[in-house]
Amino acid sequence: MSADYVIPALPQPALAVQGDSKTFPVRRIWCVGRNYLEHIRELGNDERQPPFFFAKHADMISPDGVTIPYPTLTKDMQHEVELVVALKSGGLNIPAETALDHVWGYGVGVDLTRRDLQTVSRKKEQPWEIGKSFDQSAACGALRPASEIGHPASGRIWLSVNGTERQTGDLSQMIWNVAEIIAKLSLQTAVGAGDIIMTGTPAGVAALAPGDQIACGVDGIGSLQFAIGQPASARTAA
Ligand code: MN
Repeated sequence: MSADYVIPALPQPALAVQGDSKTFPVRRIWCVGRNYLEHIRELGNDERQPPFFFAKHADMISPDGVTIPYPTLTKDMQHEVELVVALKSGGLNIPAETALDHVWGYGVGVDLTRRDLQTVSRKKEQPWEIGKSFDQSAACGALRPASEIGHPASGRIWLSVNGTERQTGDLSQMIWNVAEIIAKLSLQTAVGAGDIIMTGTPAGVAALAPGDQIACGVDGIGSLQFAIGQPASARTAA
């Protein structure tokens, strides 16, 4: 199909699939704000507040094995390792009881965060975009289909920097499970095929610096590695 666009058609962001030459096309990236108790405590947030959602753009995905330039504006970019859920279908007001039927597969991702800017936004009651939504801020490894691995409710989630473990937890510690997250998100928007959800991070978030080598994973699902490079300089998007 050749549509009559006034500028050239844009590429479709996509995620790799483990052991498959086909990729998973990404429509939207949703992230859960708070979903592990220990992480809520380490940031000093209210434990009684329900989780909530923010978004990154699909073209902010960064695949396995790349070097991500240290982003602009921040002096405190932090890692948040998370279980990634990829949807093959969806709808509005999905009951938790049937929510997993919409899951195509799972992966591991890192919600890169300009923590200093996020903290300022939070204090000013401004949106989180400046802290959360920037180029290559959604690192994500290859997906595994639920048809192969099922719907894991437990499994170690971990992240190390330069060989030293920084984050560790277990999927069973999520305050809201995957089905409940999908159900909750579908109350505010019709979720659908191609949507991915980053489901929140366990304790141990900390700063990254140029030269750091990051490795992370969820046991039974997959892993992801990337490096942090020197700060991005002027760049032209075409
Ligand atoms: Mn996060």
